[in-house]
Amino acid sequence: MVIGKPLFTVEQIQKRVGELAGQISHDYEGRELLVVPLLKGAFMFASDLVRAIRVPLTIDFLNTSSYSDTETTGEVKVHCELRDSAKGKDVLIVEDIADTGITLDFVTKKLQEQEPRSLKICAFLDKKERRTREVHLDYVGFEIPNVYVVGYGLDYDDKFRNLPYIAIFKKTA
Ligand code: 5GP
Repeated sequence: MVIGKPLFTVEQIQKRVGELAGQISHDYEGRELLVVPLLKGAFMFASDLVRAIRVPLTIDFLNTSSYSDTETTGEVKVHCELRDSAKGKDVLIVEDIADTGITLDFVTKKLQEQEPRSLKICAFLDKKERRTREVHLDYVGFEIPNVYVVGYGLDYDDKFRNLPYIAIFKKTA
């Protein structure tokens, strides 16, 4: 297993997260947000993001998974439900990376059933060329090519989430 050089450094990440939080704070001025990070991958991004958002908010988590090794299984597992209904709330889904879009498509449809006032998506990374489902990302940290990345919450086999930066991951034969 090889971890490459940082694709995005700690400094680049901090700067971009600050910009995203500024944009979100502006867009939701005078409102209250329900932030829904998708675990486990989005935990680090979400904790940095919410600390920089300047509107009142509450947080609830969904635990999703669709990856086995470095390939998506195409099947999304949701391991827990929101504590309270999203009905009538301004909901912001926070995701680590949009890849095929299957997870976000699934979660968006699931939350829409609860009739939120609004529903937007903030994805830290966007691997656009891999998309098989159409999903609209309202806020994106960085676009990346079709590479497998780890760090800043993202894993390989549940490891490397603690790297403070994003790096390309390669499996050695
Ligand atoms: P999707 O459903 O969009 O195909 O995949 C979304 C999920 O797959 C992400 O939340 C993430 O957990 C995982 N994933 C997709 N691409 C990568 C990647 O490059 N690295 C890691 N660590 N996880 C990825």
